[in-house]
Amino acid sequence: MIPYATVEEGSMALGRNLTRLEKVWFDYSAAKSDYYLYCHNILFLFLIFSFVPLPLVIVESARSASGWFWFDRYKIQPKVAYSLSDMFRCYRDVMKMFILVVGPLQFISYPTIQMIEIRCGLPLPSLMEIVAQLVVYFLVEDYTNYWVHRLFHCKWGYEKIHHIHHEYTAPIGYAAPHAHWAEVLALGIPSFLGPAIAPGHMVTFWLWIALRQMEAIETHSGYDFPWSLTKYIPFYGGAEYHDYHHYVGGQSQSNFASVFTYCDYIYGTDKGYRFQKKLLHQIKEESKKGNKQTGGEKFD
Ligand SMILES: [Zn+2]
Ligand SMILES: [Zn+2]
Repeated sequence: MIPYATVEEGSMALGRNLTRLEKVWFDYSAAKSDYYLYCHNILFLFLIFSFVPLPLVIVESARSASGWFWFDRYKIQPKVAYSLSDMFRCYRDVMKMFILVVGPLQFISYPTIQMIEIRCGLPLPSLMEIVAQLVVYFLVEDYTNYWVHRLFHCKWGYEKIHHIHHEYTAPIGYAAPHAHWAEVLALGIPSFLGPAIAPGHMVTFWLWIALRQMEAIETHSGYDFPWSLTKYIPFYGGAEYHDYHHYVGGQSQSNFASVFTYCDYIYGTDKGYRFQKKLLHQIKEESKKGNKQTGGEKFD
């Protein structure tokens, strides 16, 4: 809700003309309540959970149904192939959780957004402000998520809660939000901490929720594509990094971080992964020389 009746009134209050984007925001949000604007996240999450993994479904189906193995070069665990019905089952479980937990959580969590004073009015944040806040949100979430995730790997946490997320030892895009309801709730805290520390505009908050979920889907894609962010962002974990965590499964005491790699490095929880990577590199080098053929899974 914007406390100005017209664009002119808004311009007067800001002491300058509104930018084109601010006019668009005014037209869209002026008559809508802040609660309604916050609830847009439900639609965004539904669209992201449903449609962002679709290209991965097409790739995976092309591999498993038609035997088109061209994508095997990018598949992290190429021996694992999911059928369309496998992936639909995962999506169905995610949607159940969405309807029963994620959606209702958005409906009732609005008071926290009011408390930390996420603003919905004018002016809109600058690009610099949005980028700076998103960097803070990602760093704060990554650090706290690391510890919550690590806690879930204690015997009780894994057996009672976290094993659901580990059902897919070779992750697929739809498996990113596939988790026990208690884990969904617990991991909401790290996502909320960044905006609580550096509250911004509702548009930034929408972007944060959307980007974090898209990042999680990429991380669970099961494919290490050449355009993976790992190649461009320093300390970014990516699909191969998290895939190792799923591959090792319940016994995994490695690669807990959700986005970056520095926590695992600092706390020494990436030793198994690094050892494995070094070993694979050596095997690859030897194979190149014509001495060996590796084949099979990258984590074998
Ligand atoms: Zn885990
Ligand atoms: Zn995972």
